[in-house]
Amino acid sequence: MTALPISIRDLAKRYGNITVLEQLDLDVAPGEFLTLLGPSGSGKTTLLMILAGFVRANAGSIRIGGEEVIAMPPHKRNIGMVFQNYALFPHMNVFHNIAFPLKQRKLPQAVIAERVKKALDLVKLSELAERRVDQLSGGQRQRIALARAIVFEPKIVLMDEPLSALDKGLREHMQIELRNLHRRLGMTTIYVTHDQREAITMSDRIAVMNQGRIEQLDSPETLYARPATRFVASFVGESNFIPVDCKPDGAWYGGQRFKVATPLPAGPGWMVVRPEKLRLSNGNTFAGESMLDAVVRDVVYQGDSFLCYAALPDGRQIMLRDYCRSDVLALLPEPGGMVRLKFNAEDATVVTGDE
Ligand code: ADP
Repeated sequence: MTALPISIRDLAKRYGNITVLEQLDLDVAPGEFLTLLGPSGSGKTTLLMILAGFVRANAGSIRIGGEEVIAMPPHKRNIGMVFQNYALFPHMNVFHNIAFPLKQRKLPQAVIAERVKKALDLVKLSELAERRVDQLSGGQRQRIALARAIVFEPKIVLMDEPLSALDKGLREHMQIELRNLHRRLGMTTIYVTHDQREAITMSDRIAVMNQGRIEQLDSPETLYARPATRFVASFVGESNFIPVDCKPDGAWYGGQRFKVATPLPAGPGWMVVRPEKLRLSNGNTFAGESMLDAVVRDVVYQGDSFLCYAALPDGRQIMLRDYCRSDVLALLPEPGGMVRLKFNAEDATVVTGDE
């Protein structure tokens, strides 16, 4: 399959005086798995619907493989789609559901039979071709929906929360299956989710959306280690936010100066340290390490790891996560006891944004 790039420029969508998407630019590389991640109402589905051609934008351009599609009707865009609610035809069997887009395209019977068989093999459901859709499990239906979305070999596949109706175990299994299928077929894929773990598991890159804008577009690793704003840091993973005053010589908090990994903004900001990057200190300091004194409030054991909630001198809560190893636990006092927390400058960033 030859994958195509997608190039979106200055896309805007309003309903009355409500702005849903604002001057949005996005480039998706050929064969890339890109996820739109954001809270409910951030504009993810609207963007996907505009890409598919079901919703008209007020302004902007969308090029797929260099061709402008903004005014093109949905069926001419050659896009495969998978939704949360499957939208399969309950009265048809599996074969006919998957064959539907091929019949619409008036392909010969023999070609249809062959393509449906190939698609069923890909989603590992060959033995269910004759089964009625209403006799399938949720996971099987979702795989049929996927087979139907790829059977006509679209250059682009759009998926809107396709796994959110499944229970946790099946959802995690399907995440890996979808990822593997994408690796095998290599189609350019835009995936919508509000689940940051799902986004991190599956994506080449993630566009974090907030109020109709892309707040950050990066690889999962970069997004996690170097969040650009307070919104991204709080939406992707867990974070400690320590209020700092940024000066040319460093970020200041509680009379202490901290070094961080990224350039500092001017004035007030938030130093972000992930809970697993904090360590209990035995008192020794090494170059490049920072220290914070705190009082333990609560410890939550989670089997292999534990969470320690502690209070900084100004009462602000800070959270540390580590493995339940004996050498680590030996440094952990009872609630009420003092701890010294350490972290590397490399693992701290400063962001701005509202609390
Ligand atoms: P998400 O997929 O991130 O949850 P949506 O794209 O569904 O977000 O919605 C973004 C915003 O646009 C929401 O505030 C929603 O209420 C608004 N919206 C979506 N569709 C319509 C519509 N047809 N009419 C009016 N407002 C809409």
